[in-house]
Amino acid sequence: YQIEMSQLTALEELGKGQYGTVRRVRHEPTGVEMAMKEIRLELDKSKLDGIIMELDVLHKSTSPFIVDFYGAFFVESTVYYCMEYMDAGSLDKLEAADGLPEAVLARTVWCVVKGLMFLKEELSIIHRDVKPTNILVNTKGEVKLCDFGVSGQLEKSLAKTNIGCQPYMAPERITPSTNSTYTVASDVWSLGLSIVEMGLGRYPYANESSVFAQITAIVQNDPPKLPEDKFSAECRDFVARCLDKVPTRRPTYRQLLRHPWLARFENPDGEGAK
Ligand code: ATP
Ligand code: MG
Repeated sequence: YQIEMSQLTALEELGKGQYGTVRRVRHEPTGVEMAMKEIRLELDKSKLDGIIMELDVLHKSTSPFIVDFYGAFFVESTVYYCMEYMDAGSLDKLEAADGLPEAVLARTVWCVVKGLMFLKEELSIIHRDVKPTNILVNTKGEVKLCDFGVSGQLEKSLAKTNIGCQPYMAPERITPSTNSTYTVASDVWSLGLSIVEMGLGRYPYANESSVFAQITAIVQNDPPKLPEDKFSAECRDFVARCLDKVPTRRPTYRQLLRHPWLARFENPDGEGAK
C-alpha cells in the first residue's frame, strides 16, 4: 500500500533538521496522523527506486521501541518519509533546564537499548545517529528510536543544508586508527553521551567555543560524567562504561541490559513491564 502526497493534509511543523522539515500530517484515506520527514537529496533519479527498496525492510520490522514506518515516496529529488507521530516529541525538548530525574532517565535508556538491540539483531542495522532528538516519546509513555541508517543509498545522497553542531560521534570516528569501520560500539558511545545530556539538560561539551573545540575535547578530554550528588553510583557506572574511549572495552547491548542500573526493567514483574 503506497502513500501519496495527494492523500496527506499538512498540519503543523514539528521541527527542522539538517536535511529538511518534519511536519505532522493527516493521511486522509485512513485518518491516521503521521510525522512526515522531508529528506532533500542530491542524486540522479535512477537511484530513487533503490532507496525506496532499501526502506522497504522497515515494513517487515516492528518493535515497541522503534517508531513505526508507514511508507516513503519521492517528489522530484526529495524523499518524503512517513512515520508514526510521537505526540510528546523528542527527548531534547523534554530535558528540563536541569535534566531528567534518574528514574525517568533509567526507563528511557532501557527502551533505547531495547530498540538498538532490536535493530542490530533483527535487521542487522547499526543506528549511526543516536542522540536525544532521535529518541521520541508519546503521551502513552512509550519511548522509541527514529532516524537510523536503514538505507546506504539514502545516506550517500543526503544533501546537508547545515552541518550538525553537536557531535555525538565516538573518539574513534574522529581519529580512526587501523580498523575504522563503524561498529555497534560507536553507537554505545553516542548512547552514553546522550544519557549525560538528558541527565544534565544540556549537551555535555557545550561550553567549548566551536565545533572544532568540541571535537578536540571528545578526543583529548576525559569523558563527561553525571554529578555524584544527583545520580546513583549504578547510573554513573553505566555511563562510564558506555563512554570508554577504547571502543572494544564498551559493553554490548546484552551486557547493558544486565547492568544493575537497568536489570530491574528486564524482570517481567519489574517496572519495565508496565
Ligand atoms: P538531524 O537533522 O541532525 O538528525 P534532528 O533529529 O533534530 O537533527 P530531524 O530528524 O529532521 O532533525 O527532526 C526534526 C525534529 O522533528 C526533531 O528534533 C523532533 O523533535 C521532531 N520529530 C521528528 N520525528 C518526529 C516524529 N515521528 N514525531 C514527532 N516529532 C518528530
Ligand atoms: Mg532526527
